[in-house]
Amino acid sequence: MKIAVASGKGGTGKTFVATNLFNVLSRRGEAVTLTDCDAEAPDDLLFFRAEKVSETEVTHQVPVINKDACTWCGRCSRWCNYNAIFYVPAAKVIEVIENLCHGCGACTFACNSGAITEKPVLLGKVTKFMTDGGSKVVEARMKVNEMSPVRIIKEAIKESGEDGVVILDAPPGTSCPFIQTVDKADNVLLVTEPTPFGLSDLRQSVETLREMKKTPAVIINRSDIGDGSVAEYLAKENIPLLAEIKYDPAIARVYSEGKLVTDEIPALTSLFEDMADKIIEGYGTGSNQR
Ligand code: SF4
Ligand code: SF4
Repeated sequence: MKIAVASGKGGTGKTFVATNLFNVLSRRGEAVTLTDCDAEAPDDLLFFRAEKVSETEVTHQVPVINKDACTWCGRCSRWCNYNAIFYVPAAKVIEVIENLCHGCGACTFACNSGAITEKPVLLGKVTKFMTDGGSKVVEARMKVNEMSPVRIIKEAIKESGEDGVVILDAPPGTSCPFIQTVDKADNVLLVTEPTPFGLSDLRQSVETLREMKKTPAVIINRSDIGDGSVAEYLAKENIPLLAEIKYDPAIARVYSEGKLVTDEIPALTSLFEDMADKIIEGYGTGSNQR
């Protein structure tokens, strides 16, 4: 079972939910893996003592243009959907902008003059760790300056395997990295907050997931600080509300110390235990309907 924990925006408590859910499942002896897909800023490991088991470099193939063989036809530039080839024939300038290149290979295919070869370029790393409790944590980490973490996320999910429960801590937003992560999930948990901003992002996430034929369940974090508009929206749209986590300054204190509330605060341990039960039993979460 793959469960993606996602949110329309950062700062709603997505990592908080993913790490604590992982902690309670791991403590129960469940086969569980936590995969940090937030490759631009992975931080799940801050909450665990874990040893590195393996590290894999993720690369893609970037074109190299031989100007001596180039006939200045411009096909490669026209075929590139990402504007990654800077082409000014009058000035005999043709350059690959490596940071924009998605490694799709279209330009190499388009070139009829044999002027393009390819070279591997590092995008980032996927690192596997084993926690003290014997559970696996997989971290996707993008190289600084890279534009897209999608390929690294894909590799991290592959590295997570298929055993037991895999919790995917998704990147924030609803763009390609989010879609790449939730696409592989059987269930999606959206973490939100009861504010107009939270509701707006939640709507966007739900609409994106519906396009993908997935129905999420929702967790409202800091549920007592805003208004009732998120709860009303969920009821109107028939979206399951899996849990509500009330605002508690102790949560922020524990979190800022790099600790888990499921190790420190009994009431929240029960809440996450209950959440884990519901997920394992398949209650309250929307299944992949494809
Ligand atoms: S490999 Fe794809 S993205 Fe990269 S320069 Fe060529 S066409 Fe553009
Ligand atoms: S397709 Fe090949 S020949 Fe044409 S401009 Fe690009 S590199 Fe040069």
